[in-house]
Amino acid sequence: MVDRDSDNTGHLRLEGVGGQWGRFVLQPVDLDIRPGEYLVLLGPSGCGKTTLMDLVCGLRNPGQGRILCDGFDITHADPAERAIGYVPQDYELFLSRTVRGNLDFSPRMRHEHGPQIAKRLEHTVDMLHLEPLLDRRVDTLSGGERQRVALGRALMAAPKILILDEPVSALPTSLRDGVCRELKALQSRLGITTIHVSHNLDEALSVADRLTIMEIGCVVQTGEPDEILHRPADEFVAEFTRCRNLWPVEIRNGQLKMDAVKEARSLFQDYGSHPDGHYLLVIRPEHIHLSPAPDTARPDLLTGRVQASVRGSHSWMIEVAIGGMLAYACGQKNWAIGEHVQLDLREDKPWLLPA
Ligand code: ATP
Repeated sequence: MVDRDSDNTGHLRLEGVGGQWGRFVLQPVDLDIRPGEYLVLLGPSGCGKTTLMDLVCGLRNPGQGRILCDGFDITHADPAERAIGYVPQDYELFLSRTVRGNLDFSPRMRHEHGPQIAKRLEHTVDMLHLEPLLDRRVDTLSGGERQRVALGRALMAAPKILILDEPVSALPTSLRDGVCRELKALQSRLGITTIHVSHNLDEALSVADRLTIMEIGCVVQTGEPDEILHRPADEFVAEFTRCRNLWPVEIRNGQLKMDAVKEARSLFQDYGSHPDGHYLLVIRPEHIHLSPAPDTARPDLLTGRVQASVRGSHSWMIEVAIGGMLAYACGQKNWAIGEHVQLDLREDKPWLLPA
């Protein structure tokens, strides 16, 4: 295992960190990354993920705010002094050097040598299965092999925090799941605080202890995967996490009103004590169960007609027209277009966002 000092807890704190570069504005970000956690920074292309990580690594200066690592203010510290291992999106390896030459880079730059470094190299090589590659030039390696070398090079600096910028996006799709599993297993073994940057929800969910969701220029929500999926902070998070159902509803005098169903109150056991107003009712497709609609119409049931049915890799996505509204349900079987179906909501408490 890579040597790490006993005070090496890897607690990263961002306090109001923001700035402007050209026309891009990063709104002040507050983020508390716990020691040893695997956090995925997730957001669409161009939202500012790399910019934020550049600030953490010291590759650019913030216009405002503070960055603290284990309580020390590192906002303006030299990148080499930060104990942060950064694996950039394109790995930035020395292509004409050998794997050993790349792994040696960080200790050489810091004039570190001796038995401790030799031991660290041995453990890194062992852990990432790099032994057979040590004397190969990097430009002769496959994408997956380069990724391991880049990770090894970052670990050779014995970082407190590891930042992986889109670590699997350069790999063929068939390799991504396996590499993510390896990254997660490695991180669990090392207990190293890790920030994994991604724009892919499935990839993020496969590894994250917590997710931080970014919209263009701002962080909108940080939470455990279930919280993000089921309690999105706003419409953007709901849509980005593929929560397809955002239905307009109204609460009036403590009653839930919805155009599509007369007795909407019966749809949920508890809809909380929301003040009167217009809301979006958020419900995930996997929480809607379809069954054939009863012959006689009931005012307390949500029913509609199947409009489309699309096969996914694990389930079907069924689009149901309910009056003027569309609902999306995830199911294990296909439904015929035009079929009259009943929608059972497998969620006791609806999640309501202000409309
Ligand atoms: P991707 O997922 O595509 O890598 P990202 O979320 O990492 O995107 P950034 O690379 O952080 O996004 O870029 C955010 C925005 O800031 C982009 O529109 C980019 O063009 C812009 N930007 C970044 N640096 C500068 C700069 N120095 N001057 C002007 N604009 C910049």
